[in-house]
Amino acid sequence: MKGVTVITHPLVQHNLTRLRDHRTRPQEFRRVLGQVAALMLYEATRSFAVRRTSVETPLAPAQGFSLSREVVLVPVLRAGLGMLDAILQLIPNARVGFIGLKREETTLRAQFYHKSLPKDLHRFEVILIDPMLATGGSTVAAVNLLSELRARHVRLVNLVAAPEGIRHVRRHCPDLPIFTAAVDRKLNDRGYIVPGLGDAGDRLFGV
Ligand code: URA
Repeated sequence: MKGVTVITHPLVQHNLTRLRDHRTRPQEFRRVLGQVAALMLYEATRSFAVRRTSVETPLAPAQGFSLSREVVLVPVLRAGLGMLDAILQLIPNARVGFIGLKREETTLRAQFYHKSLPKDLHRFEVILIDPMLATGGSTVAAVNLLSELRARHVRLVNLVAAPEGIRHVRRHCPDLPIFTAAVDRKLNDRGYIVPGLGDAGDRLFGV
């Protein structure tokens, strides 16, 4: 599917399988989700813009690169928090914004309950972090909000996607790069991804 990168690295797939396992308890789930997030970040940031720079080593001048744009990480609450710390370890000077979205029970439509984002988003690489791409409603709402705030370079890091969600996001956000570890079979009638891994927030926080 255009613009969708499925990260098939064996370590990502091994850890995803542990996350899917219903016997994996919250403590282990948190640790493994962090590991997967860090592994996925390499692929998800591969196309970050860089500029040439030079430094002095102890021996001689050396040519190198630095990131052209600062980074903003935007976890979608709650489950996005499970990937945040591991990504921050790799990009420690990133800023962090938050988007809180919940699904309205009957319609499954996304509703904001929290937004806190830096200004001038057009200057940043924005990594939207949402482990579960189910109906796609939350992702579209989040990307629309980021666009209203003038974000220009947005990508989604996601763990498990439903085909229905990807189609929905593609229809509304045709240019959004999506990085995922799996595209699963389908959504069930309660909006859960099958086989998926259950409710990622509940699995993370044990509630
Ligand atoms: N959110 C989850 O946590 N799990 C799903 O399967 C769908 C949405």
